[in-house]
Amino acid sequence: SMCYCRHKKSHLGTNCDAPMDICMTFNTAAHSLIKYGHARRVDKAECHELLQEAYRHGLVQFGENNREGVNFICNCCGCCCEALLAVQRFGITQTIHSNFIIELNTETCIGCGKCLAACPVKALQKDETTPAPGDDGAVEGERRRSGRPPALNADICLGCGVCVSRCPTHSLKLTPRPDRTITPLNTTHRVVLMAAERGNLQDLIFDNQVLYSHRLMAGVLGAVLKLPPVARNLARKQLRSRYVEKIMSRM
Ligand code: SF4
Ligand code: SF4
Ligand code: SF4
Repeated sequence: SMCYCRHKKSHLGTNCDAPMDICMTFNTAAHSLIKYGHARRVDKAECHELLQEAYRHGLVQFGENNREGVNFICNCCGCCCEALLAVQRFGITQTIHSNFIIELNTETCIGCGKCLAACPVKALQKDETTPAPGDDGAVEGERRRSGRPPALNADICLGCGVCVSRCPTHSLKLTPRPDRTITPLNTTHRVVLMAAERGNLQDLIFDNQVLYSHRLMAGVLGAVLKLPPVARNLARKQLRSRYVEKIMSRM
């Protein structure tokens, strides 16, 4: 379907040249968008071509944060995407980064600045404070540095890897973050996990009128039971229900 953010910017005349017809929706949401003429059906082959096109344009791919039943993949640019613009203005306020972060090899970096231009959230910046080791003759020929290695603002690095593909000397690589984020199983699992992490799981279950339906309540409890041990303990403390305690102790 059409990229909402670039479409919106196009009305202001400020959109970039990244492709417009490249947002991907799957499952029931896709059927609905196609039915009402907001999206067109594509087969797997075209989907792969679109992902390659996104890669060529240096777009960041965001999928729904689920292990199963992913409903969308967005292909975003740092100039039009509202989520990425928010990261540049306010930092990362919710989990939109991957479980990786960038690692820079300052020994092989030639300071060309290509990664700075590619980073969609400006996490890589010029660093005038570090010495330019190429100046001492340690780096020869084509590898002689034209500038200094960039500085990384780890607080806003998405771990998207867009910069990796642009580096001519393979000086950037993605490395696992020390604190791994748990990818929820599905949408219900994600809502429960987020509530447990924020400490308001009891509100989700006992104050939410929607959950008075037994079926939904069963879905939430099922999701609690599938949480990894650390998150399940968090949930257990928040719920303080003997019924839930008993079920969870059997897992
Ligand atoms: S989130 Fe990304 S792909 Fe989705 S509409 Fe915005 S820029 Fe386009
Ligand atoms: S992985 Fe690279 S391109 Fe992506 S946000 Fe981090 S520094 Fe920027
Ligand atoms: S693209 Fe590679 S070589 Fe160029 S400044 Fe970035 S890390 Fe260094």
